[in-house]
Amino acid sequence: MQNLLALNWKMNKTPTEARAWAQELAGKLVPGPAELAVMAPAITLSTLAANLPAGVAFGGQDVSAHESGAYTGEISAAMLKDVGATYVVVGHSERREYHGETDAAVAAKARQAQLSGLVPIVCVGEGLAVRERGEHVAHTLAQLDGSLAGVGPDVVIAYEPVWAIGTGKTATADDAEELAAAIREALTTRYGSDADDIRVLYGGSVKPDNIASICAQPNVNGALVGGASLKVPDVLGMNDAL
Ligand code: PEP
Repeated sequence: MQNLLALNWKMNKTPTEARAWAQELAGKLVPGPAELAVMAPAITLSTLAANLPAGVAFGGQDVSAHESGAYTGEISAAMLKDVGATYVVVGHSERREYHGETDAAVAAKARQAQLSGLVPIVCVGEGLAVRERGEHVAHTLAQLDGSLAGVGPDVVIAYEPVWAIGTGKTATADDAEELAAAIREALTTRYGSDADDIRVLYGGSVKPDNIASICAQPNVNGALVGGASLKVPDVLGMNDAL
């Protein structure tokens, strides 16, 4: 399966900064075996469409659960699709924590994304207290189950332990594999052989110097990267390591 290196800019980069980043990438990228995708603020996506090198995908960081209508401030899946997005992140832990997104809300967003032909990148993962109680597998699988209600198999899953996001604390490759394997088993139970094509990413303080060992795990098919996505040299380093 082709690894996916999904870059999550979070709330960083204006359209002007996005253009400069995309042009720098276009000038330096030597395409490797991994697929690259930039998950960017919606207002930068048209700029990315015009400036990213060929073959680099992009997508949004959130999407409305509604098709269209009186939802001021929301961005619809059809709008993302219209500017050329391939993916959209749903259920990132920052959305769950700061915007109260439940598993049911995440599933509704993922379903809406699929109706417009987008591939949702569904994020799951435990907080520190859950990990310390040793309940991380059960917790994450329950979150996965709720977040995939009614969602088809054209999906990417990102396992992101919340304690490792933006903290510099990376889960070990074995930690990542433990959950990736459990997630893959749950996906197979849910989707049968259609699960064979679903990529399971790891996210949490991934950088050029740790991506190779994490993505070498048998059930890890790439990474969702926040901090190290902002500078092109880091992205090139990660792309080269995959
Ligand atoms: C993320 O934003 O999904 C993430 C994993 O961030 P970081 O790489 O900075 O930990």
